[in-house]
Amino acid sequence: MADSHYDVIIIGTGAGGGTLAYKLAASGKKILLLERGSFIPREKANWDSQLIFQKEYYRTQEIWYDKHGKVIRPVTHYNVGGNTKFYGGALLRFREQDFNRVFHQDGISPEWPLKYQDFAPYYTEAEKLYEVHGQRNIDPTEPQISEDYPFPPISHEPYIQEINDALKDKGLHPFYLPLGIKLNETNRFLSTCIRCDTCDGFPCFLNAKSDADVNCVRPAIANQNVTLITQAKVLHLHTSASGREVNGVVAEIAGKRHIFSGDIVVLACGAINSAVLLLQSANDQHPNGLANSSNLVGRNYMAHK
Ligand SMILES: Cc1cc2nc3c(=O)[nH]c(=O)nc-3n(C[C@H](O)[C@H](O)[C@H](O)COP(=O)(O)OP(=O)(O)OC[C@H]3O[C@@H](n4cnc5c(N)ncnc54)[C@H](O)[C@@H]3O)c2cc1C
Repeated sequence: MADSHYDVIIIGTGAGGGTLAYKLAASGKKILLLERGSFIPREKANWDSQLIFQKEYYRTQEIWYDKHGKVIRPVTHYNVGGNTKFYGGALLRFREQDFNRVFHQDGISPEWPLKYQDFAPYYTEAEKLYEVHGQRNIDPTEPQISEDYPFPPISHEPYIQEINDALKDKGLHPFYLPLGIKLNETNRFLSTCIRCDTCDGFPCFLNAKSDADVNCVRPAIANQNVTLITQAKVLHLHTSASGREVNGVVAEIAGKRHIFSGDIVVLACGAINSAVLLLQSANDQHPNGLANSSNLVGRNYMAHK
């Protein structure tokens, strides 16, 4: 029996789930956000490099294995905002050619059924939501975009400025990394970001990073129609009798199993955990897991170190 019925259930509150919750909140739909982690507390540990990098204080202690049985220690975090609490906030758009067929050393990345132009308006909206600072028309690989970034670029550190100038002298096109941080360089008194040296890899003690928690989840749950349940680990997805739609979600909350039903269920648990849930949700109609007729779900995972 279902605990409760929702118009939309979103599993995961990271870049995907958090942003979607923000966008849907104003629709008035009854929305449930299920997040396996909690809010990251604001505490001294946020900025402690030893704790973050040596003790992996906020990182999952899980161990994953690759297809050769080699151990992977994932740089993954389970908390409201997902990995965006820790990201560097470098928010680049894909280039137009990324959507075409690309030949790599290890194989071919096939052409996408959708093109850059299909995504362009959403990139523009996301750049506003995530307060991206940058400058257009320097990088020649950048697509044609009529609107400026919402905020001016973040100035280079003196040493980086020297490198930038030297590269330009050689005819190259170094550009400002588009960054989603709350830095006001014209009036530092009004700036949330203090331009410290703990950013990429750290949760921001000042909430000065544009992450999915601060920019999306918190404003979303200020709406009465949006409910967030933290420490709710989703274990299984149920399908309708036809097997064509996911209509139910089993979550473990405080050691008990709860079932939620939804007209729309959005799986936004990150690359690995979304695949895990699809595979764990195998049933008679889908013996290899949901959405896995290709048998590729959970394979070909790539991560940067
Ligand atoms: C250190 C670091 C630096 C990075 N820097 C950048 C950068 O500068 N620019 C950039 O574009 N990207 C960067 N990234 C990558 C970026 O953070 C991710 O691509 C992005 O967060 C992925 O979004 P997502 O919604 O798919 O997953 P996530 O943001 O990871 O969110 C997944 C969410 O699902 C939850 N979840 C997982 N399993 C379950 C379950 N079973 N039940 C309930 N909830 C569940 C998780 O707790 C999490 O909240 C960085 C990542 C890291 C770790």
